[in-house]
Amino acid sequence: MHNLDKPVFQVPEYLRHLRQVIVDRSVLDAPLAQRVLRRLGHLPVVIRESEFDPGRMHLTSVGKGAEDGSGSKDSGSGTVYLKHYRGRFLRSCPGTRHYHCCAYRIVHIGENCPLSCSYCILQAYFQDRVLKVWANQADLFAELESAFSERPDRRWRLGTGEFTDSLTLEPVTGYSRDLVGFLGAYPQTCLELKSKVVDLSWMDQVARPDRVLPAWSMNAPEIQAREEGGSVSLEERLRAARACTQAGFRVCLHFDPVIPFPGWERGYARTVEMIKDHLRPEDVAYISLGSLRFMPELKQRIEENHPQARYIYAEFITGLDGKQRLLRPLRVRQLRHVAETLRRAGFQGLYLCMESDEVWNAVFGYMPKELGGLGRYLMRRAFGE
Ligand code: SF4
Repeated sequence: MHNLDKPVFQVPEYLRHLRQVIVDRSVLDAPLAQRVLRRLGHLPVVIRESEFDPGRMHLTSVGKGAEDGSGSKDSGSGTVYLKHYRGRFLRSCPGTRHYHCCAYRIVHIGENCPLSCSYCILQAYFQDRVLKVWANQADLFAELESAFSERPDRRWRLGTGEFTDSLTLEPVTGYSRDLVGFLGAYPQTCLELKSKVVDLSWMDQVARPDRVLPAWSMNAPEIQAREEGGSVSLEERLRAARACTQAGFRVCLHFDPVIPFPGWERGYARTVEMIKDHLRPEDVAYISLGSLRFMPELKQRIEENHPQARYIYAEFITGLDGKQRLLRPLRVRQLRHVAETLRRAGFQGLYLCMESDEVWNAVFGYMPKELGGLGRYLMRRAFGE
């Protein structure tokens, strides 16, 4: 087995803009922090002495060229912040009660993402683009252990890709590798690693491949090329997915958001063709479909940050959760097209992300209750039943 702490990897293209590391003094000796500092040894390092200082962060520069981290022109893009996180690591997914939510639990490992998808919700969630990594992993593991042992009869469908991409920082943090290693002792958990890049360095730590679900976002090739800045091609994602299935994993796919553009029917059909060329239906645990939707404040961020994104000028209505959604006829047409193309290719385990019974019925001809409830259905699919 090779030693991953040696710089055997090339910093991927999408991380070449990194320019400094900030680390809380209290986690400086944590194994994860030490690993990141070794792997990003070429970057200046700033130690944050006290997180309880009022006002500006109090920083002590220890590296050549280190900046004060108090706000740069690009709102912290290029800064990795190894933080002593004091909040809850295990969370419920922020779905809303108005629509069917998939009921998975988030393992919160950090915030923000080095990619720049134009539609990314994180632009509205967070004020800056600092890549925050919760470096006090021992606290995270203690919290998970306590939750699992409180309810030993319970099964958990877990994921890390809610407030960050699961794998974009993996080459420098090895976070997922540590996490799958830890979860190996808890076969009542199934962890989904959701990404738009390829990093399989966590694989050799997996005790049970049937308890880890590598997952990739799918979209039309045109949307990937135009709107998912820094991501790897669909072909590369699917080649990685196939490599996972050859190693004994099943994978998940997520068509979210499905976006209208001239020729979208052909674009999404082309993606399903590619999926069929790389994966067999039995290789896939589940596939989500979600229509374009966003909080009102996100629209302004998209306009400012991604002027090429024309889809925000489509017609929207405000949904029950306050989010802007495409008008239902177009929404249903798009979701039905992707669903039917996937089904014709033999793929099952399809579900809609944050939609009502009416839309489920119009797209699939049934509602989540006929599956025994969406959360329970996905739990069964995740655990291979
Ligand atoms: S990969 Fe996900 S988290 Fe990262 S920018 Fe794209 S949508 Fe946002």
